[in-house]
Formats: sequence, C-alpha cells, structure tokens
Amino acid sequence: MRLFDKPAHVLHDMLVNKEITAVELLNDVFLRIDEVEDQVKAYLTQTRKTALEQARLVDAKIAKGETIGFLEGIPGAIKDNICTMGVKTTCASKMLEHFVPPYNATVVEKLQTQNPVILGKTNMDEFAMGGSTENSAYFPTHNPWNLDCVPGGSSGGSAAAVAAGTAIWSIGSDTGGSIRQPASFCGIVGIKPTYGRVSRYGLVAFASSLDQIGPLTRDVTDCAHLLNILCGYDAKDSTSINAEVPDFTKSLVKDIKGLKIGLPKEYFVKGMDADVERAIRTAIKKLESLGAEVVEVSMPHTDYAISTYYLLAPAEASSNLARYDGVSYGERVDGIDIVDMMNKTRSAKFGEEVKRRIMIGSYALSAGYYDAYYVKALKVRTLVKQDFDEAFEKVDLIVAPTAPTPAYKIGEMNSDPLKMYLQDICTIPLNLAGLPGISIPCGFTNTKMPVGLQLIGKPLDEATIIRAAYTYEQSNEFHNSIAPLGEDKK
Ligand code: GLN
Repeated sequence: MRLFDKPAHVLHDMLVNKEITAVELLNDVFLRIDEVEDQVKAYLTQTRKTALEQARLVDAKIAKGETIGFLEGIPGAIKDNICTMGVKTTCASKMLEHFVPPYNATVVEKLQTQNPVILGKTNMDEFAMGGSTENSAYFPTHNPWNLDCVPGGSSGGSAAAVAAGTAIWSIGSDTGGSIRQPASFCGIVGIKPTYGRVSRYGLVAFASSLDQIGPLTRDVTDCAHLLNILCGYDAKDSTSINAEVPDFTKSLVKDIKGLKIGLPKEYFVKGMDADVERAIRTAIKKLESLGAEVVEVSMPHTDYAISTYYLLAPAEASSNLARYDGVSYGERVDGIDIVDMMNKTRSAKFGEEVKRRIMIGSYALSAGYYDAYYVKALKVRTLVKQDFDEAFEKVDLIVAPTAPTPAYKIGEMNSDPLKMYLQDICTIPLNLAGLPGISIPCGFTNTKMPVGLQLIGKPLDEATIIRAAYTYEQSNEFHNSIAPLGEDKK
C-alpha cells in the first residue's frame, strides 16, 4: 500500500493505531521523491538524514506507548525563505546561496515541538517575488498536473510537493497571494491567516507589512490542525497580534446554514478564463444549496489594488533588501573599493525581477516622488481596506476566485512582468487589508487543470473560513483527486 497520497490526519490515525510506522511512511515518501522529483523539482535542499532520525524518534515514542501530537512522524517541507537552523535557507537567490541560519524561525520552533519529519526546503520565486516559481535563481518547479505548466508562486515548490505527494504538508508565505495562488494551481488547500496571526520572526522579509506565513495541505482538516500549531502571539515579532487562538479543529463541522456570503462582482475580471468562471459559479451555487445565503457586494477599489501593491511591496522590498551589501552576510563579489564591491555583489547576485523591484521601490521612495507614489499608495490601501469593512457589515464571508486563470505554460508569462502582475488581482486586496483567505479545490478546467475557490474572512476569523471551507469540501471529491503524475509507476 502506498502512503504518500493520504492526508496527514489519515496517516496520524494509522500511526496511532500501529498500522504503519513513521519510518515506513517516510520510506514511502522517499520512494515517491525518487520516482517524481526529477520531473517536479519542488526541492532546493533535502534533509533525508535528519528526517530519518526524526521518524525513528517518533517510532520509539509510539513503541513506549507515549501519545503523539498531530504532526509527529508526518513528513512535510518548508519554503526556503523560512530560517531553519543549520539548514541552508537561500530564498532561491544566488545572494544567499551559502546562507545557513544560526537560528530557527518561530514557526519552525513551533513545528519542532511536534517532532514532525522535515524533508527539506522548497523552491520559490527569488525572495518570494513572483507568481510562477520561474524567478528561482536555480530552476523552475513544474506543476504535477501538467509538467509543462507552472505550479504558481511564489510558494510553488511547497504547493507542488504536496500535490505530487513528495510532502504530506508544507509551509509557505503569502505577500500578495503566494500561498493561495499556488494552492489553486496545484489543486490543494492553502490559507493565508490574518496579518499578525502567525509570527514572521525568521521569515526573510520581502514586504514586511504584507508578509504572512501559512500552511499548504491536502485538505481542510489538515489545514485546521496546522493552523493550531502555527498561530499565536510572539514577542519577537512586533506586528504579532496578541489574540486568543481558537481550536480550529472545532470548526471542522458541516454547517453553513444561514451564513451570509458576499460575492464581489469586481473579482470576475475581464479576460477571466471561462472554465475557471464556470467552476467558481458552480461552487457558489453549491454553497447556496448547502444553506448559505449569497448576496452581491461591491468592492469599488479592487481595480486599484494591483498598482497599490506593486508600489508598496517593491518600496518595502527595496528597503528590506538593502541589507545584502556584501558586508554582513550573503555573498560578496570583490571590487576595487567598497562602492565597487557593493555594486558588483548586488549586480551579480540578484536576479532580474528582484533588481526590477528594488529599482521601482527606490524610485517610489525617493524624495521627489515619495508623496506622489508611496504616500498615495498608502491612502489607496486604506480605501481597499474600507471596501472590505463595509462589505463585512453585511456578510460573514466573501467568496471569489483565487486566480483568474488556471496554471499556464512555463515561459508563457515571464517575458511580460506586467501581465504576470495582473494575475494577482484576486489575492492582493486581502494582503493590503491584512485579512485571512483560503484557497480550496473547486473543480477542473477542460484540460484537467485544478481551479481554486477563495473564501475571505473578517480579521482573526479564520474559524468561519475553516467551517465554510470544510462544509464545501465535504460535499465534493475534488480534494481526493491526486495529480496523475507518475501514475504508471505506482
Ligand atoms: N505574485 C506576487 C508578487 O510577485 C505575490 C508574491 C507573494 O505573495 N510573495 O509579488
């Protein structure tokens, strides 16, 4: 029996009931990696030796009759912009090619209390800038549903690994959609919690006022369990919210009777893929038949969200990435003096997209343009947030597509950055407003590519998102569809 294709909660029960051992489970995932990783290319670094030690530890615990936590012995992977002590953390950049963090991110510390089995670090767009994983300085990751397609991004490696069964769960980060969009492209579940819900300590900063860490999983049940582990106040992150974290597994109930769900017409953009629109509209009908009341809401500033984000995120990035100067840490290319050294280092070690954003950001922050661009963008950010505030006076939840298209072909978009930026229309507004949002599978296109449905919640109301997502998920089989990849080898 193969095990890689099962969600964590099923595997956890099998471990507890002694139907399998953690080492057996790990060996099956290793086998899966051997079978398909050369096609998918989700990993930048694999940590097989420590993974095996971790699995043995869990088996010893079980043999002694000790109880185990949800994630104990379940193999998962971590995006390569999250610091792992003693394990390379490159952000898929040449700049951090040899960076080995001397500390763990808070989320890694939290995971570690669970004795999970960490398989390695996953590929991503360089410094999380992008939506296809093609901006990785190392190699692109491929979509397990069609190897010619992108897995989405920037957490493309994390999403592809879960979809391919080369990890049972993974952790990603979302600044403008980087958990939800790859989850949608790869047919899995991904949630961006409320800004401040999960500590950003040890997440390599891209745009600090937007960045948030979250899980990518096979189904909503696993997502709720992972949220329980990851969420919580952290004094080491000054933007961490000191709010009570509910037990999200209590929201795993099939009940959305009377739930008011808003449908923003602005999210059904011109040029939206017809198959995606059909899948989303069918899902909305399903939510209605399950007892929800769907009403139209208006979010008039949605149109401005992309330009706002693509000013604010690069502005913050240009400041955050100033630290890679060849002096403190990261790579260095020697020069004739310090200015020449910094020039050479940053020219050689940053990729095209990162340089583009540093330039846009520096421009927007420069003395003559600060008010015209940066300050104006901050004001529009407030308007985008107000759209949500007003909508949430009338509804409990908002439903929308996660992305206007399914996964596209590798190389199709990356010659046109603007076209790629426009893809983020449905995910970016939540980051600007700091709101939680999940993407769950809701069907397929005619060419069998997955489509994701996005559910957006009020601040700190991940519980309602989980409840609605679970109710919807249990009414269909989409989450049980495994990417066809490697089928012949099973
Ligand atoms: N695609 C968006 C960007 O390129 C979002 C990235 C992210 O969420 N990290 O900035």
